[in-house]
Amino acid sequence: MERIQRLGGVGYPRPDAVLPEVLQRNYGRWTRHEVVRPGVLKHVSDSGEACLTVRLLMPMGKRLSTRSLLEIAEIAERVGAGLRVTSRRAIELVGVPEHELEPAIGALRTIGFPAGGTGRTLHQIVTCTGFTHCQQAALDGPSVAHALGNALFQDAVEERYPTKLTISVSGCPNQCGQANTADIGVVGIYEDVPVVHDDLMDQCDAPLTVRTCPTHAIRVERLENNRQTVRIAAERCVHCGSCALQCGAIEFGRPGTGRAVMSVGGKGSNTGCGPALGRVVAVHVPLSPPFYREIVDPVRRIIDAWVCTAGERERVRDWIARVGWEKFYQWTKLAMPREALDGFRQHHTMLRSDVRFRW
Ligand code: SF4
Ligand code: SF4
Repeated sequence: MERIQRLGGVGYPRPDAVLPEVLQRNYGRWTRHEVVRPGVLKHVSDSGEACLTVRLLMPMGKRLSTRSLLEIAEIAERVGAGLRVTSRRAIELVGVPEHELEPAIGALRTIGFPAGGTGRTLHQIVTCTGFTHCQQAALDGPSVAHALGNALFQDAVEERYPTKLTISVSGCPNQCGQANTADIGVVGIYEDVPVVHDDLMDQCDAPLTVRTCPTHAIRVERLENNRQTVRIAAERCVHCGSCALQCGAIEFGRPGTGRAVMSVGGKGSNTGCGPALGRVVAVHVPLSPPFYREIVDPVRRIIDAWVCTAGERERVRDWIARVGWEKFYQWTKLAMPREALDGFRQHHTMLRSDVRFRW
């Protein structure tokens, strides 16, 4: 490591070089933590020393101006705290002295960053970059997340839930926003079938395009003039868009064909019943910016049903496993999509909770 630094700082920054003093003193010695109030965590080490952390709600898509970053950093420096980015891309002030807690929270709120997203609240909504910086997006993740965040803002700053709730948004099925491992996930998808322009096939590596399709929907076909093209079996296409990335002759994602798919019960961590992928509960959901009512309203109904009937510390996945899918659809007033039936493909894991078999 020293040699790397002598060579001019090549390599990742050393983590211990940027740790606040309270973390350096208690490295590996933390014994417990608690949520003091929404947005404020207290970690206690075996020496008895406590570390207060303030978690901030961030703009969706992690987009911050340099001015905002400087203002947050100035407040952190003023109160003697360090900064940390959480796994859900919120920023935390770590090591805030107790007498500076209220002034720091007030100052951060003044510059537009409320404290929240800890414990039994809605945690920071995660979203991929969407149209901001990606050519694959079928929906604008940050604007969907922003509409959800605005509708559920009080749930992020007040402890209203049985336990934590995560919502994530991905612009397309590539899932960079990790929607499939969130309690509630929203994924964008284009619903058109790719169109092949035979006259552009010189821009297409046909064998590679065939191999790239996850459902084997593409086959090579020879044209009359002995040239080759590809054909797509519409009934096998799952609209992933991979072929259009590989082949310049394929057109996919025409304007107006973007929709959302919603899933519930995903979980990324190994706590409780372990990690799980979310189950699809709504498909063909229209996208209607700026408020996205067709997404926000069902999310609100899912949350209301969960809050009213879940046991203490019961995540969405465990709640559905207990009450069953029939009640889930009944309480949330969602129409069960045909695509939600698993077709026995995951029979062993789904038997307990499938809509057709339950005991
Ligand atoms: S999930 Fe899709 S739209 Fe979002 S960043 Fe990844 S590839 Fe792009
Ligand atoms: S969009 Fe995806 S599933 Fe459909 S044909 Fe192309 S690669 Fe195959």
